[in-house]
Parts: sequence; C-alpha cells; structure tokens
Amino acid sequence: MKQISIIVPCFNEQEALPLFLQEIDRVCKGLSEYEFEWIFVDDGSRDGTLSLLKERAKEDSRIKYISFSRNFGKEAAIYAGLEAAEGDYTAVMDADLQDPPGLLPEMIEALESGDYDSAATRRVDRKGEPPIRSFFARMFYRLIRKISDIDIVDGARDFRLMNRKMKDAIVSMTEYNRFSKGIFGWVGYETKWLEYENVERTHGETKWNFWKLFLYSLEGIVAFSTTPLALSSVAGLFFCLIAFVMIIVTIIRQLTWGGSAY
Ligand code: UDP
Ligand code: MG
Repeated sequence: MKQISIIVPCFNEQEALPLFLQEIDRVCKGLSEYEFEWIFVDDGSRDGTLSLLKERAKEDSRIKYISFSRNFGKEAAIYAGLEAAEGDYTAVMDADLQDPPGLLPEMIEALESGDYDSAATRRVDRKGEPPIRSFFARMFYRLIRKISDIDIVDGARDFRLMNRKMKDAIVSMTEYNRFSKGIFGWVGYETKWLEYENVERTHGETKWNFWKLFLYSLEGIVAFSTTPLALSSVAGLFFCLIAFVMIIVTIIRQLTWGGSAY
C-alpha cells in the first residue's frame, strides 16, 4: 500500500484546524487504497494550536506534529515537514482550506499515470483578496518572471503533491532563506498544473502582513535572479568612476590654482 504524507504548516490556526481535520478526513476516506500521515508543523503558534494537535493525535494515529520553539515562518515549517515525511508521495497544504483537499484525488491520479513527478495548483483569480495585495502580487510575478530564468507561475500555490524523487531533491537544497515557489521550479521534474478558483479562508485572518510579504518577495527575487547583483555591480562601477573623475578634477585644480579649494 502506498503511503501519502500531507504537510500542513500551522501558525495560530486553532479555529481553522477542526474544520481542516474534518475535510481532510473526508477526502482521505475516499482514498482507501492509500495510507496517510498528516504532519502538522506548529510554527510557534501563540494560541491553542499545539494543544489541539496533541489532543487529536491521541485519537488518530495519522496525526503527527512537529513543534517549533518560535515563529520561523511558513517556509521553515514546510521544510521541516518535508524532512520528516516518509510517504511515497508528499503533499504540502495550508490549514485554512484555501488549498482544497478535494483536489487530492486528481493530483494522485496525475502521479499514478507515471507521466508526472508532481501535481501543482494555481488559482486563476484572487477573489476576496484586498485589491492592493493583488496589485503588488501581480507586479511581483511580472517582475520575477522578467528577471529570473525560473518559470514562476502567477497564482501558483505551494499546494502540490510530489513523488519521493522530487521531494528528496527539494530537501537536499538546504538554503536558509527559502522561496518554495522558486525551488519547486528550479529542481525541474515534470509537473501537471491544476487550476481552481480562489477559495477564501475558513477562519481567522491571513498570517501575512504587507511587510512580511514584501520581505518574502525580496527573498524570492534575490534567490532566483542575478539582476540585483548585476545592478549593484553597475552602480558600484558607476560611483567608482565618478569618484575617480573627482580625484582628477581635484588634483588638476590644486595644481592649476593652488591652495585648498575646500
Ligand atoms: N503559516 C505558517 N507560518 C507563518 C505564516 C503562515 O506556518 O508565519 C501557515 C498558516 O498557518 C497557513 C499557511 O501558512 O496554514 C498559509 O498562511 P495564510 O493562510 O495566512 O496565508 P495566505 O493564504 O493569506 O497567503
Ligand atoms: Mg490562507
């Protein structure tokens, strides 16, 4: 029997988790030919997330959890989950049901066909999202697609299922500042894209504020494009030239007129 690991990063998700567990249980029941482990990574939650997970893990052997000492961010949580996952297939999925677990059967089918190493998802709209966030997200994707060789799909989610080969390749990339959307593309492999309409969060608020997202997007750009490096080299060279010209001008002025100009 094939085993499937599902990684769920959780930061203050005590309201969303009961619903998530209900839904994932329903979906997995329909996939009785597979064995599941659900790896919840508590990313330093300050609410009852961890105690809820501990409680539920006693009743359900599919539930496993990893607990962080503080909030390290979703990327770190995904990585810890990937390291721990033992399944033949591994999925990454949010706790707020914005990554519909109902897509799992279709994702599994794609991998079982043997034609794909991974099934990824992208939302085709951003309904329900604050317009300012959508605007900056679009700008970010347009920019990164222009300056990076990696194909980062607009609307791509971290929600995907991958086989062991691809999961191991991702785990072998041990960089500290991670940008999964780029890493998934960078390792290559055959990916099937599934599209769906945006689903709004079941409970609670998004855990990202504008500043956090901005820093995260910078991480993506710096990690997957050499353009910032090239720009700073050009800027460095430019200022070096100006400084050099200024030295010459100062020397000539000194020799011609004498005395100190400054
Ligand atoms: N998350 C996390 N650590 C963080 C922020 C978020 O583990 O520092 C988790 C969160 O619990 C959720 C997923 O990452 O399961 C996506 O977060 P959220 O729904 O807030 O992001 P959005 O869907 O708004 O992009
Ligand atoms: Mg969400």
